[in-house]
Amino acid sequence: MLGFLKKVSDYTKEAFGAANYLFQGLVVTFDHMRRRPITVQYPYEKLIPSERYRGRIHYEFDKCIACEVCVRVCPINLPVVDWVMNKETKKKELRNYSIDFGVCIFCGNCVEYCPTNCLSMTEEYELAAFDRHSLNFDNVALGRLPTSVTTDPSVQPLRELSYLPQGVMDPHDLPQNAQRAGQLPSEVLELIQQKASTIDSNESIKSSNQIDNNKE
Ligand code: SF4
Ligand code: SF4
Repeated sequence: MLGFLKKVSDYTKEAFGAANYLFQGLVVTFDHMRRRPITVQYPYEKLIPSERYRGRIHYEFDKCIACEVCVRVCPINLPVVDWVMNKETKKKELRNYSIDFGVCIFCGNCVEYCPTNCLSMTEEYELAAFDRHSLNFDNVALGRLPTSVTTDPSVQPLRELSYLPQGVMDPHDLPQNAQRAGQLPSEVLELIQQKASTIDSNESIKSSNQIDNNKE
C-alpha cells in the first residue's frame, strides 16, 4: 500500500513539474504575442553589433614578428605565416600572412595571444561571397580598415535589443542620448576596478594601523 502511495505522490510531483515547465514556456510565448513585429530594413538600416562582437580580423603587417603564436593557439592551425630567414641579419623576414575566413570559427584565440597586438577583431560581419576562395584574406585584405555601421553615412544604425532603454522594444526613432537598460561592459569593469582599489586602500590603512599599534 505504501509503495502504491509513493508512486502516486511521485507521479503527481512529476505532473506538477511538467505543468510548471509548460507554463514557463507559455509565458514567453504570451509575452511575444503582445509585441509588435519590428523590421530592420537591411541594407538601409543595420543593427549596431555588440561591444565585444567578434567579426572579421584586422591585421597590421608592420607589427607582426612572424612568431607563429597565432598558428599554435588556433584550434585549426589556420593562419598562414609566410616568412624566410635572412641569413645576413639572422632575422625572420615576413613575406605574407593570410587567414581563410571560410574556415575560421572566429574564436579570437589568435587575437588574444598575439604578443604584439597586431591582430584585432572588428565589427565587420558582411563576409558573404560567391566564391569561397575569395574568403582567404591575405595581409593586404586583412589590413583594410573595417567598415563601421555607425560611421557609414548611407546606413541608418539601429541599436540591438539589449542596448535599448528599459521597456523600449523598437530601435526606430530613438533619441541619441537615450540610456540603455543596465550597464555597458566597460562601465561594469570600471565599477569592479573602483571597488578593488577601495578594498586595497582599506586594507593598506588597516595594515598601517596594525603596525602603529604594534609599535606602541
Ligand atoms: S602571433 Fe601576432 S606577431 Fe606572431 S605571427 Fe601571429 S600575427 Fe604575427
Ligand atoms: S579566430 Fe580562432 S579560428 Fe580564426 S584564425 Fe583566429 S584562432 Fe584561428
